[in-house]
Amino acid sequence: MAGHMARHMAGRVYLDWNATAPMRPQARAAFEDAAALTGNPSSVHAEGRAARHAIERARGEVAALFGARLADVFFTSGGTEANMLALSPAIETAADKRPRGELLISAIEHASVRAGGRFPRNAIEEVPVDGDGRVMLDALAHAVARATRPLVAIMLANNETGVVQPVAEAAAIVHSAGGLLLVDAVQAVGRIPCDIGALGADLLTISAHKIGGPKGLGAVIRRSDDTHFADPLMRGGGQERGMRAGTENVAGIAAFGAAAAAVRENLAGEAAHMLTLRKLLEEGLRATSPKAVIFGEAVDRLPNTTLFALDGAKAETAVIAFDLEGIALSSGAACSSGKVQPSHVLAAMGVSPGLLRGAVRVSLGWTTTESDIECFLDAWRKLAGALSKGHGIAA
Ligand code: PLP
Repeated sequence: MAGHMARHMAGRVYLDWNATAPMRPQARAAFEDAAALTGNPSSVHAEGRAARHAIERARGEVAALFGARLADVFFTSGGTEANMLALSPAIETAADKRPRGELLISAIEHASVRAGGRFPRNAIEEVPVDGDGRVMLDALAHAVARATRPLVAIMLANNETGVVQPVAEAAAIVHSAGGLLLVDAVQAVGRIPCDIGALGADLLTISAHKIGGPKGLGAVIRRSDDTHFADPLMRGGGQERGMRAGTENVAGIAAFGAAAAAVRENLAGEAAHMLTLRKLLEEGLRATSPKAVIFGEAVDRLPNTTLFALDGAKAETAVIAFDLEGIALSSGAACSSGKVQPSHVLAAMGVSPGLLRGAVRVSLGWTTTESDIECFLDAWRKLAGALSKGHGIAA
């Protein structure tokens, strides 16, 4: 349990795993071992080959988690850069090297996809979601039919609601119209299976820090080497087979690989553990607040995520009140430069403004315990009354 203690601040309950997860002990060990390597992975001498070996071993571990080939994994500086690299009109396939005419994105994508990568603003179109937060496949079919060689981005699971998207069905629709599908799997990895072939994604993006690897590392994975990035973001020394130049983050990549291996080994058990605790959490929540709304409750969600709201409550007040009770969680609203913006995800779902402002996200992970959930529920019983009346923090 020493590892557990080291990962959490004493006396605190960490329930914000969708923001980031603690590093797994295996990842830390791999990080330290690889940080001791001297060589540049591009060097031909023994030192260089040792660093190269650490990277390729990690690449194999990441590839295996997604059922991909080793040569189809490209490391980046995170999920954001992975999305930026993939969101380019210059994504070519062996059969079609013409530029992608449009970018279609679901209305609930992460900011790094909503920014549109290298597509011009006027070439980006949003595909709506239904009231449960799932992309509307009939709207997608219409949009791809109108578009010219579209690149379509649909996340596998939403970071706020945890709602799992019908990606395999979307892939069939996209492919039948000559489109390519990018799947942001950042929040899904480590919680549900993410086999790239089964999903039908042409490109998949992931981030290490959500699965117990280091922050500042991610990857783009392609389903086949038919797909080519003709316009890499980083040009220079030709690393990552020309797709991402710059001397590799050897220690970080080694740690990412170790985290991926741990996920592959433990996914079924960890997912079942998180689901059991989330059921406990949601039952307790409902017992105290029968009027609480749990978003996406009727549809398939990640086993670790609950986004809920009480009408009239203010999420930012709730987050501070929980923090004072020793509990780290997050509001459903995206907070940028100190301003709390209403969540575009809940807005796209048609959630009323009163509920939308009060959304609180609780996200669990592999070291979350039953006693963490009890602490959360104790705090909620104490805070719910005052918060639902829109009052400030209970003294
Ligand atoms: N995509 C989704 C769905 C995310 O939730 C996040 C991070 O929260 C990202 C992309 C960005 O990943 P990173 O933090 O590694 O840049």
